[in-house]
Amino acid sequence: LSDKLDKALHVLKGHGSITEVNVAETLKEVRRALLDADVNFKIAKDFTVRVKDKAIGQNVLTTLQPGQLMVKIVKDELTELMGGDAEGINLSGNPSVILMSGLQGSGKTTFSGKLANYLKNKKSKKPLLVACDVYRPAAIDQLHVVGDQIGVEVFSDRGNTDPVAISKAGIAHAKANGYNVVIIDTAGRLAVDEVMMTEISNIHKAIQPQETLFVVDSMTGQDAVNTAKAFNDVLNFDGVILTKLDGDTRGGAAISIKSVVNKPIKFIGTGEKMEAIDVFYPARMADRILGMGDVVSLVERAQEQFDEEEARKLQKKIAKNQFGFDDFLKQIQQIKKMGNMKDLMGMIPGAGKMLKDVDIDDDAFKGIEAIIHSMTPKERTNPSIINASRKQRIGKGSGTSVQQVNQLLKQFDQMSKMMKMMQGGGGKKMMQMMKG
Ligand code: GDP
Ligand code: MG
Repeated sequence: LSDKLDKALHVLKGHGSITEVNVAETLKEVRRALLDADVNFKIAKDFTVRVKDKAIGQNVLTTLQPGQLMVKIVKDELTELMGGDAEGINLSGNPSVILMSGLQGSGKTTFSGKLANYLKNKKSKKPLLVACDVYRPAAIDQLHVVGDQIGVEVFSDRGNTDPVAISKAGIAHAKANGYNVVIIDTAGRLAVDEVMMTEISNIHKAIQPQETLFVVDSMTGQDAVNTAKAFNDVLNFDGVILTKLDGDTRGGAAISIKSVVNKPIKFIGTGEKMEAIDVFYPARMADRILGMGDVVSLVERAQEQFDEEEARKLQKKIAKNQFGFDDFLKQIQQIKKMGNMKDLMGMIPGAGKMLKDVDIDDDAFKGIEAIIHSMTPKERTNPSIINASRKQRIGKGSGTSVQQVNQLLKQFDQMSKMMKMMQGGGGKKMMQMMKG
């Protein structure tokens, strides 16, 4: 979608003046782009009509920078289409019960874990996960693995095949043990069918959750809309979770679902890791779709993980010329904490497109980490002692080549120099630079 829109908007962005002809041409492109992204035909058509009306209403053609204004109108309209301001989750109950619904493979179990982790860390809640996918033993195991990962208790009852009974027992367990949020992970099927709908509807009726969430794989496009409608008819759910919005964005599902079921999209999943969860901001999503990059999210996420204390220590070391490979290793771990590299790069304007065919992920650091691990403590603090024979030893030890070791040493040297240059301002200055 971004590619097409980029092209469509390119003309308008660059030029100081536009004509009626290329407004019409642009709108046609915008509509085609929306259709390509699986946005429903009628929604796309209505959308372009509204944009055109606004453009005429605001006399786009007579303003100083018509291109800019046009881009703004398209963006605002897209934002509105995806639903105003970000909405939170209802946590007023004691405990607050959150029910997950959605097809098999949509990401319910993963998102249950992400949400528990998010509520625990960001909202100081004490969540309990409840395993109600009774059809596959592996499903219960999966939730336990997730729970262990994030340090959240998982309630399950392996002999029991009645999800209503399990969810009730889970809530009772939460009440008795001081949990204030209960997240109920349910079974899904590959397609909408009676059995699944009856089951989820029964659970829903029995436990009356504060929040019912519909989880949908954003890569399923137009199908996502039909599924959303089917679930909403039965559950009248409170919000949508859009998963698998990693790197390359497919905005189509977001646009259509919101229009068809008129329920807010609350969170997005942006990767398999437990940290890959974000509050859904329509304006940011519109930016992404329009290929402007989501700088706001990027800076926010970076800041969140930014350890002030660590930064201060680092600054001292740089100032004293003591920055070594151990510090570098810490930096890598810091970056990894920030999430998948491709996600991150995708948020930088322009970089998303560049990286489309390149697979950058955490593995990119594996070689580097291996090399550093093969260095002795002395070598790490004082890399200048690494001579030819040491390089050979390090290469062998790390399963890399002398060439790769050389490359890392060179990069490290350049980085150290750059850091020295930037010292004084430290990380904060860099953040400001990023914010622009
Ligand atoms: P469920 O059947 O609805 O419980 O779905 P799961 O939580 O088991 O997820 C199905 C698959 O999708 C798993 O392999 C997950 O790791 C993966 N997955 C879930 N959410 C995301 C996401 O946001 N991004 C990516 N890339 N993968 C995801
Ligand atoms: Mg599951």
